[in-house]
Amino acid sequence: MKEINVIDMIIKQLPFAILIINQDGDVSSYNKKAEELYSHEHRYDFRILEKINVEELINQEYAKALVQKLNWMIQYNKSKVNVVLDTVNYSRVYKTSIIHLRQENAEVNNDEMFLVSIHKDHFFDELEAVIKELDDIRYALEESSIVAITDAFGAITYVNDKFCEISQYEREELIGKDHNIVNSSHHSKQFFRTLWQTIRKGKVWRGEIKNKTKQGNYYWVDTTIVPFVGADGKVTQFVSIRNDITDRKIAEEKIRYIAYHDDLTQLPNRRYLLKYLDKKIKRRLESKKPFFVFLMDLDRFKILNDSFGHRAGDRLLIKISERLLKLSNEIDILARYGGDEFVILAEIESKEQAMEFAQKCLREIRKPVVVNGQPYYITASLGISQFPADGLEEEELIKRAEMSMYFMKENSNNDAQFYNEHIKGSMDRKISIEKNLRQALETEGLYLVYQPKVNSKTKQVYGVEALTRWHSKELGFVSPGEFIPVAEETGLVYQLDSWVLENACKQAKEWQKKGYPPITIAVNISVAHFEKNELVQVVNNILEKYELDPAYLEIEITENLSLNEIKYVHNILLDLKNLGVQISIDDFGTGYSSFGYLRKFQIDHLKIDQSFVQRFNISEDEIILQAIIQLAKNLGINVIAEGVEEKEQLYFLKKHGCYNIQGYLFSKPEKAESIEKEIFNKNSNLYLKINEICV
Ligand code: C2E
Ligand code: MG
Ligand code: MG
Repeated sequence: MKEINVIDMIIKQLPFAILIINQDGDVSSYNKKAEELYSHEHRYDFRILEKINVEELINQEYAKALVQKLNWMIQYNKSKVNVVLDTVNYSRVYKTSIIHLRQENAEVNNDEMFLVSIHKDHFFDELEAVIKELDDIRYALEESSIVAITDAFGAITYVNDKFCEISQYEREELIGKDHNIVNSSHHSKQFFRTLWQTIRKGKVWRGEIKNKTKQGNYYWVDTTIVPFVGADGKVTQFVSIRNDITDRKIAEEKIRYIAYHDDLTQLPNRRYLLKYLDKKIKRRLESKKPFFVFLMDLDRFKILNDSFGHRAGDRLLIKISERLLKLSNEIDILARYGGDEFVILAEIESKEQAMEFAQKCLREIRKPVVVNGQPYYITASLGISQFPADGLEEEELIKRAEMSMYFMKENSNNDAQFYNEHIKGSMDRKISIEKNLRQALETEGLYLVYQPKVNSKTKQVYGVEALTRWHSKELGFVSPGEFIPVAEETGLVYQLDSWVLENACKQAKEWQKKGYPPITIAVNISVAHFEKNELVQVVNNILEKYELDPAYLEIEITENLSLNEIKYVHNILLDLKNLGVQISIDDFGTGYSSFGYLRKFQIDHLKIDQSFVQRFNISEDEIILQAIIQLAKNLGINVIAEGVEEKEQLYFLKKHGCYNIQGYLFSKPEKAESIEKEIFNKNSNLYLKINEICV
């Protein structure tokens, strides 16, 4: 019974007695006030009231009159009427207003229903207003909401048009069925168990439900289920009012998708991966069934990105993700973990299979990617950790795969590495270096030593190279070979280089102030620093601060750069040149540089790497060395050999025209106080040695 049931729940709240009866006078519903009125007047038991005929409430004569009135109303199509009817208790006269509740769905419900209001006064107008209000509410509810009524067992007894519309079922297909008909299987059994527990207790349940249409599409409804409790305290029926929130849910799902996926490759992101991994681990804590974590990091991706543009970089990442996805059905999940980092969790049981799989991944990555008709080549380094052997927590497993990847990168790119105890040890050491170096940069422990650069022809010291030394309270002496790479990886190198620049320039100026003849001071600047666009500014500020003529500052940058790095270093070098600073290419012979760029960069000095000097008697190296010296000369670049330890090396270099020498042969790097006694005093041990050796 459509309207009645919907109105029913509202009528129950009204502040005067209302009965809903049919044309025979059978009471089908009443509100609290009616219950009070009759149980007070007649001591009727609340539970009985529902099953009675109106004859039992008011005197028979008038009950008959009422029923006649109702039939009269039907016959003459009257919708409302006021009558005076006595209650069974003759002592009080109650006036009655009747409203015919029109049934829209007459074939389903043959009963004509009437709303009878009994009150001390007629209040037809008020009642009408209330009915209108109820009808408005009903209308609003019906129009705006998806309404369904079920019996106590959950069988659908009523659905409104909106319900049919959204579920795409005909009314007849729904009546008599339960809500399983629209079940989407999205929610757990527990979800519905809680729902039923709540409404069976007579409590209102609210929540969001994902349902399925007849055609198999999904929709979301914000649902309120109101249980109606009968006179005996038992739930008689449930009215559910739903609102379509599919659009909102889609938007929410989209937002969730964005939060958990990478925009570029559409792969799950780091957040998703960690959650997923956490769940996976929890499920396996008991069985300990193994799986592997593969973490790949593209080698020198940043350089590719910077040199060829982000479009090429993006294209490459997309292509690689597509290839990896197709790789094998052992892949449980492939996530983009960071800029150029991918993580795969794979259902693999043995280390042998894991290594095979890793190699497959690396092969896929190595295949060229064509962007705008041009092939791009990239390699990756891959670290592997294993559940449960390498960790029982998600962060731990990822971290260890990452450590193994870094270990691989340091040793050689483009291969795969399992996590092991050795890696753990070296990583712990790095972490401790980072921590202590950070402190040292803020407090103390770092100092500079200076190594003379000698012109063996003029027998003069013409400059010094500043080299950093670190004595850590906790770690003891740590060599630059160990802490510089850590500083580069962690970004501490910016601070470190600035610290060196500042202290070296300060020292150079102090020597000048002491009246010593000015000499060039060389400072090593890490390539990583060139990625930050502040180097020129930093150098300029320091030179101004100490009022040092830029001509006395030399910047050494390692030649061990890739061709791509060279490109972005180029502009900064030119800016430094414009400041008036000298530029030196360090470790020359170890990189990929061409003489073409040496000219373009307007390099002042070229430092032949120690390895060449030390292998001078190997004929192949001798030829290369000769070529380097010759070409530098042709380009007008000053050549210096570093790491010269023996006289033979010096003679050999001199023979080929390299007169500038730096090395233990003359002096080890020393602290400022010691070195100044040597380099500014022509009678020093250093000068004695120079004069003795350089005949
Ligand atoms: P480098 O710039 O090529 O410095 C030359 C290295 O060779 C220094 O090692 C120096 O002590 C060493 N050396 C000099 N003469 C000889 C010799 O005759 N025989 C041998 N075997 N070695 C000699 P050091 O001080 O350990 O520095 C190693 C590297 O660390 C440097 O190579 C440089 O690349 C880097 N480094 C040192 N200090 C700094 C710094 O303040 N900033 C940056 N960014 N890098 C630095
Ligand atoms: Mg150097
Ligand atoms: Mg060097």
